[in-house]
Amino acid sequence: MFRLSFALLAAALVNFSQAQNESEIESAVRFLFPDSYCCTVLTLSPVAKHVAFPGQSLYNTSVDSYFDVKSKLTPNCIVQPTSAEEVATTVKVLTAASLLKPCKFAVRSGGHTPIPGSNDIEDGVTIDLQHMNSTTYNAHTQVASIGPGGRWAGVYSTLEPLGRMVAGGRGSTVGVGGYLIGGGISHFAPRVGLSCDNVVNFQVVLASGRIVNANKNTNADLFTALKVNYILEVKKTFENENLWGGIVTYPASTADQHFKSFVDFGLDPNRDPNAALIVFQGYSTASPTNVVRAAFDYTKPVARPDAYKEFYAITNNISDTTKIQPMSAVAAEFGSTTTSRVQFRTLSFKLDLATLQETARLYEIMLAEIQAKASGSWRISCLHQVWSTLYTANSTARGGNVLGMERYTENFDMYQSYLSWSEAKDDELFINQGLALTNGIQKFTEEHDTAVEYLYLNYADKDQDPLSAYGADKVAFMKKVAKKYDPLGIYQRLLPGGFRISNV
Ligand SMILES: Cc1cc2nc3c(=O)[nH]c(=O)nc-3n(C[C@H](O)[C@H](O)[C@H](O)COP(=O)(O)OP(=O)(O)OC[C@H]3O[C@@H](n4cnc5c(N)ncnc54)[C@H](O)[C@@H]3O)c2cc1C
Repeated sequence: MFRLSFALLAAALVNFSQAQNESEIESAVRFLFPDSYCCTVLTLSPVAKHVAFPGQSLYNTSVDSYFDVKSKLTPNCIVQPTSAEEVATTVKVLTAASLLKPCKFAVRSGGHTPIPGSNDIEDGVTIDLQHMNSTTYNAHTQVASIGPGGRWAGVYSTLEPLGRMVAGGRGSTVGVGGYLIGGGISHFAPRVGLSCDNVVNFQVVLASGRIVNANKNTNADLFTALKVNYILEVKKTFENENLWGGIVTYPASTADQHFKSFVDFGLDPNRDPNAALIVFQGYSTASPTNVVRAAFDYTKPVARPDAYKEFYAITNNISDTTKIQPMSAVAAEFGSTTTSRVQFRTLSFKLDLATLQETARLYEIMLAEIQAKASGSWRISCLHQVWSTLYTANSTARGGNVLGMERYTENFDMYQSYLSWSEAKDDELFINQGLALTNGIQKFTEEHDTAVEYLYLNYADKDQDPLSAYGADKVAFMKKVAKKYDPLGIYQRLLPGGFRISNV
């Protein structure tokens, strides 16, 4: 019955449209559907029961679950499909309705990207995949099927009791869908590669509404290019073991020692592939001491493994949470929900001590400026991670991806600045300080020949261009694949948010 109603409505409007020019059609549509034409059409379709409007509790709960407060927008309605078929129906309805007036939409999984408009939309429809959050395990194939709207906490708590694990987010609260689209760096990355390279099949809703599989035998070009459309991932699992992991906090005065150890660790040709590491400088109003932290995560149940022995020589730590524990507990320590405003930015550069020291100098300038001017509560963290050729080796062994990693024959430092603050009036201060920090580092790296072109998409800000940084050949490949699977460019036109290949 819903289908019939929609068909009749569309037919009536199409007849009407034949006699009018475009702006008259739009004003007629606005007259007929003052609240929102696209949402009204959805309420006449088979996904009607999943459509929520402002003021309804489902709508408010969805909006409240964004990680970054400034990314909470007010879409005309939110649709929460529960299956790939319902996603397909939603896409078909919005695409068909767009014949009269464009129905712009956004997609979100965990809602963790702090770029307003990347995962939500004003004056449009947000497709919220949070109800597609199941994780199931097939013991015969040792493969887990994971819904895009899940959070990593749920994935780990399902797999751990079964003695299995996957390479997923380090923070429990991060969403599955967005994380994998950017590549996904897990604690297991040096051992098994990026998370996207551990996917054995993507279930994809094409812009036509057709549901296809993409894997190494079927739609193999889409599989390689993917991380672009609606997905249900199927991931190869491995045996679950406890990790030795946690965060050790030291006074800021140890920054130089940490950077030296980090460079040695990153350049070690015999690096232990079980050893993951993040070194970061940080300060927060909740714990107002300028600190350096080392997050050690060793993916075997071995306490204080030799891989980090240079760091153990750094004395006077303030706190130490390292212990042997399951991945779910490690992820809980890294997870966070916020009621703050957030900015991420990223850069890459060579593992060069002078460059790391310059990042610390610029961090101190930024910290002083923020301390002098900011109000409310706030936190800054500037993270250094080793982007390892081990990721590339694992990726190549699994068929490759589009991140352009094979251009790099040496490990490098993948840097992320992460600023969060409570007051909207401080938006300009924090956003400009974060920009000045990465601009300053970029300038230094260009002048000292330590710049690395790569930009990690999951940490990039909206003015950054991570897709171009994958390299011209990968861009050309992604454009070709997008054209093949979405020849009318529907997703490129109707989905304005996020990093899109048509913008490159
Ligand atoms: C606390 C925290 C910890 C983090 N830890 C890590 C980490 O350990 N490793 C790492 O690599 N990154 C990490 N990140 C970055 C994280 O991977 C990205 O922010 C990622 O985009 C989050 O995924 P999401 O599903 O929550 O994102 P969302 O904000 O929901 O989506 C991000 C983008 O992907 C698109 N998208 C989402 N799902 C789909 C889908 N199914 N189909 C098509 N498009 C989709 C959205 O439209 C949006 O543009 C972390 C972020 C935070 C805030």
